[in-house]
Amino acid sequence: MYDLVVIGGGPAGLSAGVYAARANLKTLIIEKGLPGGQMQNTMEVENYTGIKTILGPELSESMRAHADYLGVEIKMTDVASIDMKSQPKVVQTSDGDIEAKAVLIATGAAPRKLGVPGEDKLSGRGVSWCAVCDGAFFKNKKIAVIGGGDSAIEEGTFLTRFGESVTVIHRRDKLRAQPILQQRAFSSEKMDFIWNHTVVEIFGEKKVTGIKIKHVDTGEEQTLDMDGVFIYIGFDPMTSFITDKEILDAEGYVLTDDDMRTSIPGVFAAGDVRPKGLRQIITAASDGAIAAMSAYHFIESLSDTEREAVSAQTKN
Ligand code: FAD
Ligand code: NAP
Repeated sequence: MYDLVVIGGGPAGLSAGVYAARANLKTLIIEKGLPGGQMQNTMEVENYTGIKTILGPELSESMRAHADYLGVEIKMTDVASIDMKSQPKVVQTSDGDIEAKAVLIATGAAPRKLGVPGEDKLSGRGVSWCAVCDGAFFKNKKIAVIGGGDSAIEEGTFLTRFGESVTVIHRRDKLRAQPILQQRAFSSEKMDFIWNHTVVEIFGEKKVTGIKIKHVDTGEEQTLDMDGVFIYIGFDPMTSFITDKEILDAEGYVLTDDDMRTSIPGVFAAGDVRPKGLRQIITAASDGAIAAMSAYHFIESLSDTEREAVSAQTKN
């Protein structure tokens, strides 16, 4: 029996682990991939206050080591569902059920697909969602980057270290990315921009050879030779395992109050899995800290009867 089970080992989950452990809660983090979450797919992090620049995987390892040092357990498995309304909560994983007095959902969000012909077939053969992982395969190659947000522009700029050219294809005539990222991209000699276009097909047999793009107003189509396509068109929340849909908004994000409490007592959420305006490492870590302290107060407030019931269930 754990006090707190945290689902997801990104910055939200790891920060929650640190705060929960320091509040003396017996804490388990369940992570299905690599601890660090999206930070593992980020080259350089330059906006985590107090650290001028750090590699994403290095910050991941540092946060994991901090949680580890405080005695937080990390289990590598996939959460399939949660019985949220029981007390204790029951977290169902591929490796069996785990009980906890409180659960924290910190599962983040997954990169969106374009949904065009060729995308699935050529995934890993020139189509990628991770410049840090795959950029080095595209030395002196032609690279297309799809999207106009922070990820597309930051990762596109990173890809100029490898590619002969990096062509950003965006569906509007204005980028959504932060001004500092835009400035760097516009001043790069290797980067060019195709505005008001969407990708309608990715070509290639064994690997990517080109893409077909379409003008959003005129519908005019053109074909471009490309060796790589990096897709950065946003994210969808990782909440398909949640059956209690009343805690989700229309897009599937987990609704909470300012203290990260959902409408189900003892169930909390933190990080990118919540609806929010600024999805960052620092805001995810902040959510995690708040959620852990809310979980602590929830556990403290469990009445003696509830505690006894929990303890009796544990013995049985
Ligand atoms: P995540 O980091 O997404 O972690 C969630 C974790 O939950 C994942 O590890 C996932 O495997 C796990 N998980 C999901 N479902 C399950 C399940 N069912 N069972 C078990 N585990 C599960 N932010 C910055 O501040 N600075 C930057 O420079 C920056 N660069 C970025 C670059 C890119 C390319 C991207 C995509 C994002 C970047 N961000 C940056 C944003 C930042 O990475 C995210 O806001 C942050 O990682 C969100 O943290 P999180 O813990 O909420 O979710
Ligand atoms: P995002 O901000 O949602 O941007 C997605 C981009 O893709 C937008 O430009 C959007 O166009 C475009 N798009 C969406 N659907 C599309 C489709 N079907 N076809 C073509 N284009 C499509 O996603 P993100 O850039 O991945 O960023 C996610 C979060 O992580 C943000 O909160 C961001 O701030 C954060 N992040 C931060 C950093 C950093 O701080 N350095 C780096 C990366 C990410 P429109 O503009 O027209 O909507």
